[in-house]
Amino acid sequence: MERIRPLPYRVPLVDGESTGSFVTRLAARHGQSVSHLLATVGEGRSAADVDPWQSELYFNAAARQRLAEMVGRPLDQLLRALASLRDEHLLPDGSGAAAYRWPWRPRSGFLVRGCALCAARRGVLDQVWLIRPDPWHICMQHGRFYDISGDDRWPFIDLSPGPHVLQAELRRLRLVKRLGPVGRLLVADAFAVLAHPAVQLPRLGGSRTAPLRLLPTAVTVAYRMAWLERLRLDGRLVHGDYRRWREEVRSDLGRQLGLALHEWSEWHLPLQLPPLPLTRAARPSSRRYRQPDFPHQPAVPGMAPVDKLTCLSWEILAHGPRPYG
Ligand SMILES: [Zn+2]
Repeated sequence: MERIRPLPYRVPLVDGESTGSFVTRLAARHGQSVSHLLATVGEGRSAADVDPWQSELYFNAAARQRLAEMVGRPLDQLLRALASLRDEHLLPDGSGAAAYRWPWRPRSGFLVRGCALCAARRGVLDQVWLIRPDPWHICMQHGRFYDISGDDRWPFIDLSPGPHVLQAELRRLRLVKRLGPVGRLLVADAFAVLAHPAVQLPRLGGSRTAPLRLLPTAVTVAYRMAWLERLRLDGRLVHGDYRRWREEVRSDLGRQLGLALHEWSEWHLPLQLPPLPLTRAARPSSRRYRQPDFPHQPAVPGMAPVDKLTCLSWEILAHGPRPYG
């Protein structure tokens, strides 16, 4: 293919945006159709009339490089903002020619409406769609809850009447920052614990507001789990710790959650670590055991939703009609 000439107008990047949403804005800014613009990037297949609300766009390495040249930005700048362009989501190289694909559904992650106020601050007035691991996203800056709904009459939920949800989200972000992938696994397990039949709470996907209703309790549960899990990953747990922990959880969080957490803890028994070495420095630490061994999967994919991350078998998601249309 011929060399690419940079497009004349610079289109601002929005953190976490989907590639399809970005390319749609890019084409609109230059008065082109998306298919015309993509024909310059490479060869590909796309469903007719693709909509960035419903589908995500994927490139191979050569097409990704051409896109970076087209927008006149270094590749790593694009990769920081657009998660679906990162290596783990690249299409195979094939013949080496630049190629793209625009399937109907994202291969991983969900297309969540981006915060209009955050976008406007970057000078973007078009609708932006983010690619996120879960079908919802809370903008801490503007106190708004966004999801995958395409309903323009109700694009977000204002969280100012429910500051406890924002506090819970802040605590969740802190936990994930402190514990890394283990933090994400624990939050996923916490949502699964709330889906235990004894707990009798609504399931995710049962209504648009279900994540809001569940989040504060899920975060409380995840912090309780974190206490036990950190000791477990450090190899410092003894069976007496479990008994004490279970009693405390039951008296603080109630009988039903206590029951579900008891079952969770039975799935997270002490790791079989190598025998204690003589020197303290050689001891295993949670730093080395970033990933819980059994029963979790060793790798935590970046775009895996809570129902795929958890090791528990309780159904997190509601069955039947979904609230998003
Ligand atoms: Zn915002």
